[in-house]
Amino acid sequence: MRSRFVVQLHDATRLHYDLRIQLGDVLRSWAVPKGPSMDPAVRRLAVPVEDHELSAGDFEGVHEGSRRGTGAVIIWDEGQAEIVRDEPGHLTAELHGHKLTGRFGLTRTGANRWVLVKVRDEHARPGSDVAAERPESVRSGKRWQDLAGVRG
Ligand code: MN
Repeated sequence: MRSRFVVQLHDATRLHYDLRIQLGDVLRSWAVPKGPSMDPAVRRLAVPVEDHELSAGDFEGVHEGSRRGTGAVIIWDEGQAEIVRDEPGHLTAELHGHKLTGRFGLTRTGANRWVLVKVRDEHARPGSDVAAERPESVRSGKRWQDLAGVRG
């Protein structure tokens, strides 16, 4: 199944990454505190959150009235996604992003706890830390702090 994905870096109560993968006409969503990794040895906590409308994946800017954090959001990565497996408690998708490429697995490990892991494939980069290496928006080149600063 052909779809798209987006990862938004969001400064709210805590800085986190919102991973959203299109399934049909919604974006299934997880909050990933430390962000994705291209290193298959790294398991990242992914907390499932409610589905979002497709249009939510295009937002980059500052959410006004954010109670904690600045509310700044950047589109950290996006691209086409191929859904490889979709079953209860597990999703595998092949991502064709600017930063994230190849297969990723999302697996439920607890009541409100999933893990996000890079599958060992030719795109994997052991030892890398893409969140630290590539902090900028793939649309504007800005960092979330640039947007937050605009707000004064
Ligand atoms: Mn968020």
